[in-house]
Amino acid sequence: MKNSPLFLRAGAALLALAGVLWNQQVYPPGEGVQLGRLPHRWITGGPRCMEVPDWQVHEYNPDFYILRQSGCTHFEKPFLYLIFGKEKAMLMDTGAGVNDVARIVFQTIAKWGERNKRSAMPLLVMHSHAHGDHIAGDKQFQNLPNVTFVAASVPELEKAFAIRPYPTGIGLIDLGGRKLDVIPIPGHEDNAVALYDRQTGILLSGDNLYPGRLSVRNWDAYVASAKRLTDFTEGKVITHVLGTHIEQKRTPFSDYVRGTLYQPEEHELALSRGHLLEWNDALQRSKDKPALLAMRDFTVIPRQGPRP
Ligand SMILES: [Zn+2]
Ligand SMILES: [Zn+2]
Repeated sequence: MKNSPLFLRAGAALLALAGVLWNQQVYPPGEGVQLGRLPHRWITGGPRCMEVPDWQVHEYNPDFYILRQSGCTHFEKPFLYLIFGKEKAMLMDTGAGVNDVARIVFQTIAKWGERNKRSAMPLLVMHSHAHGDHIAGDKQFQNLPNVTFVAASVPELEKAFAIRPYPTGIGLIDLGGRKLDVIPIPGHEDNAVALYDRQTGILLSGDNLYPGRLSVRNWDAYVASAKRLTDFTEGKVITHVLGTHIEQKRTPFSDYVRGTLYQPEEHELALSRGHLLEWNDALQRSKDKPALLAMRDFTVIPRQGPRP
C-alpha cells in the first residue's frame, strides 16, 4: 500500500470507513424502532442529600423520559416513565412517599410542548401496580382537567385498556401514532401490568422483573405471568427490559440492603430479553414449589401473605 498509487490508497481508506459505518448499523434496522440512550449512572440519593435533586429527569429520546425519584426523599428510589404520542402523553406511576411528582411531570410536558409547538397535551396516568411506592402521588393528578386517571385496579385496567379476558388478554394504549401493549402480570401484586412500547421496543416490567429483590406474593400467578410475558416477546424487538427499582450492585449476586439511600455501585437499570428468558426458565423449573432463586442480576424471593 505504501508505494501504491494515490487513488488506490484513497479507495482503501474509503473501504475502511465504509466498514466502520457498516459495523455501526443497528440490526434489525427495518423495524422502525426509535432508539435512545440510558445514562451510565443514575443519581441515587446522596452522598450529600442537600446537593441532590428530588427528581432526575432523563431524556431517553425526545419522546421518552425516565424520571427517577431520589433516595433522599424515599429509599425505594422508584423509576417513573413519561411517554409522548402525537395526541397524548402517558405517565406510568406517581412515586413514593411525600413527593412533588406533578410539578416535575408538568414541567417536562411543558418543555416537550414548547419543543413540539403543542400546548395543553392531554395526560394519561396509569400504574405498573398498586403498591404504595408507585401510587403515592396519585392525588396530585386525580380530578385535574386534561388528565385521564386510571387507578391501579383490575376493573379499571380492564375497562380503560380493553383487557379481555383478564389476565390472559392483552390490552392497548393508543397515544396517537404510538401504541403500547398492556400485559397483565399478577404475582408480585394482583394489579400488576407490563407495557410494551412498540415505538422504542422497550418492555416496562414494573416490580415483577428488575435488577434487585423480586418479591412474590402469589407464586402460581407470578410463574404464569412470567410465561405469558416471555411468550409475548417472542419474535418482537426488545431493546431493553426496564423495571421500577435498582437494588442490585454491579458485582454479580450482590445487592444493597433494603433502605439504602446512596448506591454508587448500583447495577444498571436495563435488563435484556436474555434476562427475561433466564427469569422465566428458572421460574418454570420451580413452578410446583415456591423457591428462592438467586440469579446473577436479580433474586426471586417468595413471600407469604399480603404485603405488610
Ligand atoms: Zn411492588
Ligand atoms: Zn416497588
